[in-house]
Amino acid sequence: MNKRDLTDEELLRYSRHILLDEIGIEGQARIANAKVLVVGAGGLGCPAALYMASAGVGTLYIADDDTVDLTNLQRQVLHTTARVGLPKVESAQTHLNELNPCCQVIPLAKRLEGDELDALVGAVDLVMDCCDNFGTRHAVNRACVKHGKPLVSGAAIRLDGQLAVFELNNPDAPCYHCLFPEGDDVSEVRCATMGVFAPLTGVIGSLQAHEALKILAGFGKPMYSTLQIYDGRGCEFTKMKIRKDPACAVCGPGSKPT
Ligand SMILES: [Zn+2]
Repeated sequence: MNKRDLTDEELLRYSRHILLDEIGIEGQARIANAKVLVVGAGGLGCPAALYMASAGVGTLYIADDDTVDLTNLQRQVLHTTARVGLPKVESAQTHLNELNPCCQVIPLAKRLEGDELDALVGAVDLVMDCCDNFGTRHAVNRACVKHGKPLVSGAAIRLDGQLAVFELNNPDAPCYHCLFPEGDDVSEVRCATMGVFAPLTGVIGSLQAHEALKILAGFGKPMYSTLQIYDGRGCEFTKMKIRKDPACAVCGPGSKPT
């Protein structure tokens, strides 16, 4: 794949990134050449995609099979009142194209699964899990493990948030399934029924973009193999190390090839 240099407009547009010792022109060029998949254009996907696009990611695939609903607008900051009823990915594309025409947004108005999910994860540099259900989370994790792609996972409900970053190009690192095994009796709670504090989704979605951009630009210490738990009541973060499950059905020995 041909790597391209930054244009004069991009050098100006991203000048406040380029001024950072940690990023500079080289780091910004890595961001501009990156392809990222954002799964979900809801509470987490909106702020995540907003910062990925504004920060100059070259290609942003956004997948979501839902349409914009009036009850989404309290927190899903890419969508507008006028776009209620439209596919969320179309609404997101409109907003992101206006924000940054240098970022190519590819809307996928569907629930990604099977071969299509597999092929797309294989084609991108990093995946951001911003979805709201365990079925999709596990499918995305399996594809990321198979292709060795970094996975930045977020979750937000009520006043509780979680962020976890998986270094899936490292065979010794844990995966999402090591943390939350599939089939465990975890009751699924969704914002649709449980409520969620609007800025909480911004906190977690923005942190997902923060970690993803660090990985793409290649600086700092990505929060790999760590679960960051955020309590919005007290504004408190708690960090937990994620251990690899040696018997994990997804990333453990004997689990490959799929
Ligand atoms: Zn695992």
